[in-house]
Amino acid sequence: MVEKSPQELIQIDFTPPPRNWMNPAVDFEARRGTWSYPTGVKSLEYLGMPNPREWSPTDADWKLPENWQQIIHDGFKDLLKKYRTLKVFMDICVRCGACADKCHFFIGSGDPKNMPVLRAELLRSVYRQDFTTAGKILGSLAGGRELTEEVLKEWYYYFFQCTECRRCSVFCPYGIDTAEITMMARELMNLVGLNINWILEPVANCKRTGNHLGIQPHTYKDNVEFLVDELADVTGIKLDPPINRKGGGDPLRHPVGRLLRRPRDLHLCRVPHAL
Ligand code: SF4
Ligand code: SF4
Repeated sequence: MVEKSPQELIQIDFTPPPRNWMNPAVDFEARRGTWSYPTGVKSLEYLGMPNPREWSPTDADWKLPENWQQIIHDGFKDLLKKYRTLKVFMDICVRCGACADKCHFFIGSGDPKNMPVLRAELLRSVYRQDFTTAGKILGSLAGGRELTEEVLKEWYYYFFQCTECRRCSVFCPYGIDTAEITMMARELMNLVGLNINWILEPVANCKRTGNHLGIQPHTYKDNVEFLVDELADVTGIKLDPPINRKGGGDPLRHPVGRLLRRPRDLHLCRVPHAL
């Protein structure tokens, strides 16, 4: 068998699509595996977030509030008033392209809308249309776009692909922080109930149980006791972890998720035991 190099195995087509970038249509069905699942009703309700409902990005109807455009417009206005940086970032990009090939999502997908400059343009085009004189008068001639449902769906697809790593901003001669633009877009989507589960379920879990996995105290205790038994079988040493014991000390203090992901860390208990 002829072995292939990673370069041969990963064929990414960087040819820009023939259609105009202003065309927002995203085929969520065809792009399964590249978008994030929405937040479940339970977590949204628990956190008191707007518009909790069952929906999927592949649905034609995303069950938005009736006045969703107005909600986002007002939210955008508030953010512009609150964060001067947002207004500056919306106005000063010269499209030099220095950030274009710095995003791992663009490098890994070849999708031009994953270039930081174009990702930001998805929001900037709506800003121009709604908040600049040129955009209000000239519309698309001035780079403006109306906030349609398709544009909102495009926001959901691309703004939840940015990890807010800020690599692109390091290369921008103007210091435009695309991560901050992503945060603003997500805040606007949140106003109409567009969130992803990967982010909000851990938040709801933290609020409910104090840890992002949603593990209850008695489950944590059970897990530790199970691991103590396992350790005793392997080493012959029976530990007595001082859980919730006054004056018991706390030689091992780390997040609950870490204990479940890396149970071997419990072996560290042997250190104080040996001492
Ligand atoms: S590097 Fe900065 S100015 Fe240049 S295209 Fe990117 S965001 Fe715009
Ligand atoms: S901040 Fe977002 S757009 Fe910029 S490089 Fe990181 S993932 Fe890409």
